[in-house]
Amino acid sequence: MFEDIFSPLQAAVDLVPQSPHPDNKIAATLFTDDWSVSRTNYWPACIEQKIGREAKIGNSSGTIHAETACILNAPGPVEEAALSITDPFCPNCAKNIAEAGIMEIYLDHKGFDKDFFKRRGGDFENMSLRICAHAGISVFKLWREEQKIEIIYEPPEHYTPPEDSPIIQEEIKAASEDLFKQHIAQAAAIHQRRKFSLCFAKDADEKIFCLTARAHAVTGYTMTDPEEALDLLTPIGKYSFIQEPVNRMLMVCARKGLDIMQNYFYCSQIPTSREQVNLVGAGIKRITIGDFEKSRDRHGRKAMKQLSKVGIIKFT
Ligand SMILES: [Zn+2]
Repeated sequence: MFEDIFSPLQAAVDLVPQSPHPDNKIAATLFTDDWSVSRTNYWPACIEQKIGREAKIGNSSGTIHAETACILNAPGPVEEAALSITDPFCPNCAKNIAEAGIMEIYLDHKGFDKDFFKRRGGDFENMSLRICAHAGISVFKLWREEQKIEIIYEPPEHYTPPEDSPIIQEEIKAASEDLFKQHIAQAAAIHQRRKFSLCFAKDADEKIFCLTARAHAVTGYTMTDPEEALDLLTPIGKYSFIQEPVNRMLMVCARKGLDIMQNYFYCSQIPTSREQVNLVGAGIKRITIGDFEKSRDRHGRKAMKQLSKVGIIKFT
């Protein structure tokens, strides 16, 4: 546990009035011993200006959640950082937090009293906390005034999440369109009909890597048992335990402190609406699609049309 756990939460509480969202104002601080970053939920400027706040992007809202915004804007590797949030987090953010390798979450106790939480409380208990348990993430509730702390969930000592679909990462000498195509062809042969994403990304020393991520259940869940796999593939309400490949890639690059190189991001099919909004949040302007006939649902196709029409993301 970090030494000072109350100041990062205070920073989020101080920032939350600046959230542009009219009803659900949420803020978070992501921190390590060396840096911290605070963000509210927000509309990326290009979405706000070119599409507007009211329109859905496919079936997703155009906002980036505060927790995910912190991860996408972290100044260093996110692995083993801690996150303080004004409110209990949604299952999609839980998946991102797990994939990004964050190990501790601190929640303001006041978030549990809000109507917003009461309306969606089930998602937090049924999915967000289950995701944390599988990933081995500790979750605490904080009372800032009283400097009180309560454990919501703590993993068993020395718990390591099982991993049956690791990200493939290899160093390459230089990025080029030819090499990009070559790596895509190799990955397609390995993953065959499974959806995957691939990108070139740079570390702080300018070393370049090629990364490949397959769609998979979120960190700590395995899919080797067919019955369990089927369970995981079945959505609960509007959420599922599956981490889509583009989201997975965005989070893994944040985890490792890698900068994704523009023009070198690939997905074997059309990403989901939520993935596309997160791509905008990550500043990705072009994505290469393997098969334009394939998408998880029709909403992804609609989102693609909306974003490409106004030039926010180019799909090639
Ligand atoms: Zn969220």
